[in-house]
Amino acid sequence: MDKLYLVIPCYNEEEVLAETAGRLREKMRSLINRQLISPGSRIVFVNDGSGDRTWPMIEELNAADPLFAGVNLARNRGHQNALLAGLMAVKEHADATISLDADLQDDIGAIDEFVEKYREGFDIVYGVRRAREKDTFFKKTTAQGFYKLMRLMGAELVYNHADYRLMSRRALDGLAEFGETNLFLRGIVPLIGYPSSVVTYERNERFAGESKYPLKKMIAFALEGITSFSIKPIRMITSLGFILFAVSLIMLVYFLSIHFGGRTVPGWTTIAISVWAIGGLQLLAIGVIGEYIGKTYMEAKERPKFIVERAIGIAAEARPESGSVRKI
Ligand code: UDP
Ligand code: MG
Repeated sequence: MDKLYLVIPCYNEEEVLAETAGRLREKMRSLINRQLISPGSRIVFVNDGSGDRTWPMIEELNAADPLFAGVNLARNRGHQNALLAGLMAVKEHADATISLDADLQDDIGAIDEFVEKYREGFDIVYGVRRAREKDTFFKKTTAQGFYKLMRLMGAELVYNHADYRLMSRRALDGLAEFGETNLFLRGIVPLIGYPSSVVTYERNERFAGESKYPLKKMIAFALEGITSFSIKPIRMITSLGFILFAVSLIMLVYFLSIHFGGRTVPGWTTIAISVWAIGGLQLLAIGVIGEYIGKTYMEAKERPKFIVERAIGIAAEARPESGSVRKI
């Protein structure tokens, strides 16, 4: 039987951790009892530099039940990095992983279907949100707009898929090949390839605690997504430059015709406006180019994306597997 590892990034989640751990344990036990996954499967919490009791709680869980494991990051690196840290830490031990959020907003009832798809032979299974009724109007519209914008900018995203997904070991090996610093996992994973499938589920409200994704982080995340995956903004600037150049040629003809027609007017309104418009455009263009140069700079540094301070209970102890179990 194959080992399934759940990977859960946690940042200041002391309010939800106990409840989450309980629910997930129940789920995993039922899967193990039905012989769908190996008893050596794990629930791995990644502590993303929390300032509260999250890590001690993870240690307690691990001490009480070897089903729970933990990865402690040296400091807060954000959801995407924490998730990657978890996935890379379990890569050598897990046959498949499912990543999900600590607040269980993603319906864990869908895990059965993920496993089913995996057994059918899919390497990557995307969890796709069925409806967004439970989200606030604001979150709903901004999220919807984000996917549209990303598509428009040329990044292939699975619509309404966040980071609730199953990945097989070889898909994780594929992911490990991507060396970029600017992490946008849901854009990278489709680039890995391999057979993939989709599972739909309902997204719930957080049952306790607050969102760790305030607007500022959301905007930064969206910008990250666009600039990491597409050079369309640069192309748009280039096109705009061409159009402007064409217009200026027409204007030149127009100005010359006025000049030679002897109807020369002071016309400095036009000039003033042009100066401002072109000045603005140039600044914008420089800004966009600067954005990419900045990214190149950051990538050139090849800084580590995370530093694992400690990992507990990740490796499943070698216990003989019983009888005639089918490999999934
Ligand atoms: N998270 C993290 N590091 C951060 C921020 C968030 O590991 O810096 C985790 C958080 O603990 C949760 C997941 O990322 O498990 C999603 O965060 P949250 O539920 O706050 O986001 P939302 O669902 O509101 O988008
Ligand atoms: Mg949440």
